Formats: sequence, structure tokens, C-alpha cells
Amino acid sequence: MSEILVLVEQVEGEVKKVTLELLTLARSLGAPAAVWAGPGITAEAKARLAEYGAEKIYVAAGDDIVDHVVAPKAELLAQLVAAKSPAAVLVAATAEGKEVAGRLAVKTDSGVITDAVGLGDGFVADQSIFGGGINVHSRVRRGTPIIAVRPNSTAPEAAAGAGAEEEVSVTLSDAAKAARVVERVKQEKGARPELTEAAIVVSGGRGVGSAENFSVIEELADSLGAAVGASRAATDAGWYPHQFQVGQTGKTVSPQLYIAAGISGAIQHRAGMQTAKTIVAINKDPEAPIFELADYGVVGDLHQVVPQLTEEVKKRK
Ligand code: FAD
Repeated sequence: MSEILVLVEQVEGEVKKVTLELLTLARSLGAPAAVWAGPGITAEAKARLAEYGAEKIYVAAGDDIVDHVVAPKAELLAQLVAAKSPAAVLVAATAEGKEVAGRLAVKTDSGVITDAVGLGDGFVADQSIFGGGINVHSRVRRGTPIIAVRPNSTAPEAAAGAGAEEEVSVTLSDAAKAARVVERVKQEKGARPELTEAAIVVSGGRGVGSAENFSVIEELADSLGAAVGASRAATDAGWYPHQFQVGQTGKTVSPQLYIAAGISGAIQHRAGMQTAKTIVAINKDPEAPIFELADYGVVGDLHQVVPQLTEEVKKRK
């Protein structure tokens, strides 16, 4: 069975959920081979990768890879593509993953698909394009298919792989070392899941009305173990930090469940959330465009609906 390279995303040695999703997808199409870029792989991380189907784990443990920005990862993958001739390369459609994918495509003279939300036989990807306005099925016809898949596109399923470790050494070009990491600032890990990885996202918009009122959105999110998002109207008003903005100029999320409260559903907001599996809209205007997109809609004042929903969720726990 042909190998499918999966670039591992990790934080301080902990494998991120999106990597387990990619391994699950890869397993249905070939033999997954995880690629660990940088030092610090732990026994737990190796076990986790194998648990989700990695037949091989390529480890490029040099400091160089993480001391420089994104280019070394693309060079590592390009060298592995040349040496192993994989059937495809999968990366997470995160900001970093998409940059790696683009650079790798140039280096290997291959086609690239970003923002895939599904992947089938022949590496036909379901892809969300033009800011999420159109969904298409795409296939790479040149070189090695390089596919960036959005987090939460598939449910991770464990199925043991051999997890055979192979060390790889990578020769980095001077160009790849042009930009060096000079400092890392640790982001405080809050109790809520990371927005782009969360399985459930509860977002508030202008309808929330004020920064203080965002507590109703947070309470619902916490009752569901969800991340909090916001529309640009809400972040521009200073009601919620910009890092939580969902949309064309914010984050792209693809959760199992997206709850939009007091959000009209402008095209720029949809661009960041419309591949969510289930969309629930709460809006007092029955004509709000978000209802065209929603699987479930509640016409009502969010200040009444959301607290009742939170209570109900808590009761059922
Ligand atoms: P509004 O459009 O004002 O909608 C508020 C909604 O709340 C209304 O539907 C109203 O009926 C409802 N409402 C009011 N009170 C209540 C209540 N008490 N209970 C229930 N419902 C209530 N927007 C983004 O979100 N993300 C982006 O990344 C983004 N990027 C952009 C990029 C560009 C280049 C441009 C031009 C715009 C961008 N926008 C983006 C802005 C976008 O066009 C909209 O202006 C924005 O999404 C509107 O936010 P909103 O839905 O919260 O506000």
C-alpha cells in the first residue's frame, strides 16, 4: 500500500487532534506515515501516532527545523517526497499548514488543494473555495497531491498501526534559514478549546449588545465544552478580542456544531464557518440571512433564548 505522509502538528510534544484526524483520513486511502518535524518527540507522542494508524513515524529531530520559521518543514517534506515517493501529503489547513503546503507544491512541482473538508478515493477532495462561497470536488493532476485538510473535517478513530520509527536527516538551504525564531511567547492555555480545533463553537455578534453581555455566550460555550467566537461587528466594537473573530478576515472554523447568536450571516462571516456540520442560528429577525444557512433556527431574543439553552444543557449533563 502506498505511503501517505502526514505532517504532525504538536504543542510541546503533545500531538494535536487535527493530526489524529489526518491519520484517520490517510488510513482509508493508504498507509499513513507521520512526519515529526523538530526535537522533542516523546514515547507518548509515538504511541498516540501509532494508536491512530501511523505505520511509520519519520522523525527529523534537528533543532534547525523549529529554530527557523516555516520553510524548513517544507524542505523536510520535499526531501521525503523525493526519497519515499508517497501517494500524497496531508497537512492541517492551519495558517502554518497552508504555508507549508504552498511551499511544498512549488518545490515538488505538484498541485495543492487547501481547505479540503473531505477526501475520497483517488484523493478527490471536497474543497471550500472563494471564501467558502462555493464547494467543489477537486483532484490534483500533477506531481504528488498535497492536501491541506481543515480541522474537524473527520472524526478521529483509533486503529493501531506499526508505528515503526525512522530517523531522517534534512539538509536545509540557506534560504530556509533566512528567517529565524528569536522568541516564543507562551499563550496562556485557557479552559476553553482552541477556536480552530473546537468541535463546538458558540459565536456572538452585534446582537449581543455589549462586552459584558458576552458572558451569556461564554456560559453557553462552557456548558457545552465549546470555544467562543465572534463576528467582526463584535470584535470591531471591542466587545470581544480580535483573535476570536470568525470569518474571511478572522479564523476559519469547521466544527461539528456552530451556534451563531445575534449574527446576521454576512458573506464574510459565512466564509469562516459555513463548513460546520450543523449550524444553529438564534436571531430576532426571521429574515436574517443566517437562517438560509442554518440547520436549526430560533427566532427570538438571544438574551432570553441563550440562558434557557444553557440551563437546559446543564440539566441534561
Ligand atoms: P449585524 O450584521 O449588524 O447583525 C446583527 C444581527 O443580530 C442582526 O441579524 C439582528 O437581527 C440580530 N440581533 C440584534 N439583536 C438581537 C437580539 N437581542 N437577539 C437576537 N438577535 C439579535 N465579518 C465577520 O464576521 N468576520 C469577518 O472575518 C469579516 N471580514 C470582513 C472583511 C471585509 C473585507 C468586509 C468588507 C467585511 C467583513 N466582515 C466580517 C463584516 C461583515 O460584512 C458584517 O458586517 C459582519 O459580519 C456583521 O456582523 P454581525 O452579524 O454581528 O452584525
